[in-house]
Amino acid sequence: MTFLDERATDPGTVAAAIPAVFSSAIGLVGNTPLVELRNLAVGLGARVFVKLESRNPGGSAKDRIALRMIRTAEASGVLRPGATIVESSSGNTGIGLALVGLLTGHPVIIIHSGFISAEKRAVLLAYGAQLVEADWEAGPDDPNNARALADRIAAETPNAWRSSQYENAANPDAHFTTTGPEIWAQTAGSITHFVAGIGTGGTITGTGRFLKQQTGGRVRVIGADPVGSTYSGSDSSTIVVDGVGTRWPRSNWPGTYDPSVVDEIQVVPDRLVYETVRRLAVEDALLLGPSSGLAVAVALRVAASAEPGSTVVVIAPDGGGNYLSKAFNDHWLESAGVNADGFADGSSD
Ligand code: PMP
Repeated sequence: MTFLDERATDPGTVAAAIPAVFSSAIGLVGNTPLVELRNLAVGLGARVFVKLESRNPGGSAKDRIALRMIRTAEASGVLRPGATIVESSSGNTGIGLALVGLLTGHPVIIIHSGFISAEKRAVLLAYGAQLVEADWEAGPDDPNNARALADRIAAETPNAWRSSQYENAANPDAHFTTTGPEIWAQTAGSITHFVAGIGTGGTITGTGRFLKQQTGGRVRVIGADPVGSTYSGSDSSTIVVDGVGTRWPRSNWPGTYDPSVVDEIQVVPDRLVYETVRRLAVEDALLLGPSSGLAVAVALRVAASAEPGSTVVVIAPDGGGNYLSKAFNDHWLESAGVNADGFADGSSD
């Protein structure tokens, strides 16, 4: 028997544990499960475990940072009772803030760049957030880009607080204090490699820092980057994977990303990203978002070359349900320049 409880493959045989009872959906944030990729990673020397952040109440890892940013700001007094929260987000942070905001009495305004799925937009509206669209093409110094517009709206809205996920230390802290310790406990300290995509960098920085600190640097931390992102040193160009990579020059990289925690960054071609998303669904029955496909593609490479017996843990930031109109739609993929012919699920028409 390893740290993996084999009985957990069949719920009928799991020892009688009574599921937890919470006073609100906030109690559902964090404590997400790991699932082994039994089929996708078959025959590789290492075992690969996916951390399913879709199991958070808002459906992504961003619920963790939303909760911590709000609690920290309330405690320090910068977020007053009833104050409005303003954030720029491609969707998930907005959803997390909207969810935690409504349970803590804060209206939420989300500024997005238009590069957001129809499903995420609908979820944001369902949680009562107010949406504002920024100019997707606007560069770092343009007043119409999402971050600059969010700053302006926060300044002009009475009693508003800008949560600033790209600069707020509570973002990586959320992962240092929850995601990292969870993975450590779930693998009984046997993790050897940690893989994650990089958007704000909060996930890889906080989790990676914890795992390195815990092991004296033994755990290898590997970033997964889409084509077109400057994180992996390529020239900025269009990125077709939601929530990851950056088009900004190094001087404008977020303060929440600490490159010194990351040992290596691997780039994944767009086609492999989306093919991996489809294979996760059809081979391991895991319906996950594009950035999960990106990170899992890297995790599989890492597992193929790691010492036998290694344990690779990869973050799946969100689920596939919010991308049915994109990642799981061949016509959308085609329009994004990704040819889905020959994808593993044979759905291409
Ligand atoms: N995947 C998705 C879908 C995201 O929304 C984000 C956050 N932008 C990430 C991955 C990256 O997470 P982080 O911001 O912690 O680097």
